[in-house]
Amino acid sequence: MSRLDQAATLSLEGAEGVVRPPEDGLDALRGAAFGRFRDEPGSVAVAGGAIAALDADAGAELRVDARGCWIAPGLVDCHTHLPFAGWRAGEYADKVAGVPYAEIAARGGGIAASARALAEAGDEAVLRQAAGLAAEMLAWGTTTFERKSGYGLSIEGERRQLELGRALDARVVQTTASTGLLAHAVPPGTTADAWLDEVQAALPGLVADGLVQALDIFVEEIAFGLEHLDRMGELAARHGLALRCHAEQFTTMRSVPVAIAAGARSVDHLAALHPDDVALLGGAECAAVLLPGAEFLGEEQVAPARGLADAGALCVLATDLNPGTSPIAALPVIAGLAARRYRWSAAETLAAMTLNAAWVLGVHGDRGSLEAGKRADLLLLDAPVEHLPYRFGHDPVVAVVCGGRLVHARSDLAERLR
Ligand SMILES: [Zn+2]
Repeated sequence: MSRLDQAATLSLEGAEGVVRPPEDGLDALRGAAFGRFRDEPGSVAVAGGAIAALDADAGAELRVDARGCWIAPGLVDCHTHLPFAGWRAGEYADKVAGVPYAEIAARGGGIAASARALAEAGDEAVLRQAAGLAAEMLAWGTTTFERKSGYGLSIEGERRQLELGRALDARVVQTTASTGLLAHAVPPGTTADAWLDEVQAALPGLVADGLVQALDIFVEEIAFGLEHLDRMGELAARHGLALRCHAEQFTTMRSVPVAIAAGARSVDHLAALHPDDVALLGGAECAAVLLPGAEFLGEEQVAPARGLADAGALCVLATDLNPGTSPIAALPVIAGLAARRYRWSAAETLAAMTLNAAWVLGVHGDRGSLEAGKRADLLLLDAPVEHLPYRFGHDPVVAVVCGGRLVHARSDLAERLR
């Protein structure tokens, strides 16, 4: 790898399929375009960090025989809780035994447990764990991911988690987007309103230091209410940040109309979405980010994902990687859950974790699909797209190119080098 990752020009040649959107220049794949890909034999040339051509380059420094393989865009994970500290396996065992999340939280588990773990962990330990997870994500094809705060539960703690996230960027191959989940749980000893006063006062400093690109809030009976969502939307608009929202995970709160009115870029979870809000999302410039890993491991309700897709919603999949509700790093595993539980096609799952996920992060003009001129984030897969959900638990990624460099290769890539 040490030599291979130095190559600045690459040519992946003779693939069985090069998986591209139905046409170039689309912002997202929704409605009739959801899951519609061109998947034709071909090659991809990379130069200067970008996709130079949908064609071979016989003069490239590194040439890969892609026969029997498929070339797909790098995956985008637009909802993770990296960096965090430790795990919560004991809580999962309790959940499996039937203890409800609210009771786990009342015992001091849940978000509070991860907040304690983060506060007690040294910076180096946090960064080492997060970098290890990012490497695992890379091996499963994730070339861009979002990271959040939310386990600080004090202004200093939230700032520290955001600064650790920025430090993580220097240790990982992927590019990241930073979200301030500044309303995750109401910190002990305060009220939701008083906490948002603190957030409002701290935001100018966090924004000035370039620590946040988006704001996020957990709207739930055990967390924040609709009035706080509305207020977070005002803060996001005031600072030119995107608004994200953990919405309708356990309880039907009717937060989606409020989020859309507040200009939200996405509403995430939606397992308990009210039926009337399906059509609303169908026509909204607000993505439905679905997290089937959390739904499955938490035995939550199943989001009305088929209905959302058919209504024309901008449908997205993400891991929700976190130590409590979804300790899953692999987007192909998420695709497997989504296909089975949502009745989505394999191509729909791919659209939902590439271009559509890039839209949530505002980077769809730059990545998320194989188009000449876009950033060269791409995957060599050992199977067609249909195998992503079908071979559940199999990692199909032979090689990963990120920013134009070969950054990950399975041992069998060696046989393919020319
Ligand atoms: Zn989350």
